[in-house]
Amino acid sequence: MINFDFNTQERANIHQAVFQSMETFIENTGDLEVASKLNISEIREYAEQFDFNQAADPMTIISTVINGLKKYAVHTPHPKYFGLFNPRANFLSTVADYITATFNPQLAAWSHAPYAAEIEQFLIKEFGQKFGYQSTVIDGTFCTGGAEANLTAMLCALNHHFNDFSTKGVLGMPKRPIIYCSSESHHSITKAAKTTGLGTASVVTIPVGMDLRMDTNLLIEQIESDKKAGYEPMMVVGTAGTTGAGAIDNLSVIAEIAKAHQLWFHVDAAYGGAVAISPELSTWIKGVEQSDSITLDIHKWFSVPMGTSIFLTSNKKILHQTFGVSTKYMPKDGDPEKITDPYIHSIQWSRRFNGLKLYLPLAVFGWEGYEKIIRHQIGLGNALRTGLIEKGWIIENDSKLPIVCFTHPTLKGNEAAIVQITESIVNSGKAWLSVYPVREQSTFRACITNFSSSLEDVQELIDLLDFYRTKFLNS
Ligand SMILES: *Cc1c(COP(=O)(O)O)cnc(C)c1O
Repeated sequence: MINFDFNTQERANIHQAVFQSMETFIENTGDLEVASKLNISEIREYAEQFDFNQAADPMTIISTVINGLKKYAVHTPHPKYFGLFNPRANFLSTVADYITATFNPQLAAWSHAPYAAEIEQFLIKEFGQKFGYQSTVIDGTFCTGGAEANLTAMLCALNHHFNDFSTKGVLGMPKRPIIYCSSESHHSITKAAKTTGLGTASVVTIPVGMDLRMDTNLLIEQIESDKKAGYEPMMVVGTAGTTGAGAIDNLSVIAEIAKAHQLWFHVDAAYGGAVAISPELSTWIKGVEQSDSITLDIHKWFSVPMGTSIFLTSNKKILHQTFGVSTKYMPKDGDPEKITDPYIHSIQWSRRFNGLKLYLPLAVFGWEGYEKIIRHQIGLGNALRTGLIEKGWIIENDSKLPIVCFTHPTLKGNEAAIVQITESIVNSGKAWLSVYPVREQSTFRACITNFSSSLEDVQELIDLLDFYRTKFLNS
């Protein structure tokens, strides 16, 4: 018989070795190259080196895996990763993940993991209030990411709009439902339309103005012309912090339009929604309190490991209406009036206790601690803007969030140059940033996604940009 648990001494050895490696990574993340050069065949060979026909020594296997993760990855926890909202996971959230994995609570039925389920419901209520929902109407569920939360929103909208959607599905629809979002919104909306069976023809993107926010006059016109054409406007998605340039749609105006046309109003606040925890910064997303639902990624600005997002709704009944089923085999020993069984309340069935990754750091540092982290990153975003302007760069987006899209008079409109300079910086291993088109012209995009990034890191990015720009112009 093999011992899948190992014995006490072996476990101690593995724990210690892993602990030491993690400690080295946490202490010295900044010394690693942010990104390594990709050689597909080398990486594939490394991944395929183990022979499953043979047992092996766990320490060798673990250290091979850790080395691979060190060598072949973009290190999103690196302080000079100025990337795509991927955070450095805060320490307590990683501890939470380990505790979760070991206890492995099953959050399908409330009665199997009542404490874990209540922790998640508590977080849902707290966050609902931060967004300005009345405490009596708040409902929600943890999701694996913004994509799942946006899909949940679309399914809720469908069930709200079409009473018999649960039974008849898309075949029961008299007219094609239409979902509106801005041309800068996240493509998980389009993907949700594919998944729900509506198809991408049901998603209409509304152009943005010079400020990269949805043009709400065009939204009204589009709704009216779609109605005349025999379509069924059903849902509008406002984005609070677009993925590309950090634009925040005018949520109050969209809320009014949604009300006038009886559309489900969803706010995709995957990234920018974090400002809701600050009474002062939450004014940036005013109007969100009038929404029917909200997506908030926890694995972005709340700095926890991947797989954690929150879907919130101000419609108490809709999740059950959308996901309810009855089974003979699931335990039913909670009072359904008082408790919520997650499996009839969300897309997933067996569910990981993802809420602990948020609960632990929030309980230790409080809202105040999290607000400081958020303000620190906003401050660095402002410092990056100021520093770039001082060196003659031009900022192309006007977001208050720490996402900066910029170019230089000597490079404006020169897409090849911008791509090449970005690649040179990424290939140097010293920093990571990306290219994003603003008003159809390529810009450099740098986002502060890491609580451990400092002013020096920002200054180094500016120096790298100057260095490689000069080098490019002289080449
Ligand atoms: C990241 C993002 C998403 C997708 O979220 P995942 O967690 O990656 O699934 C959706 N909307 C916006 C605005 C985002 O920034």
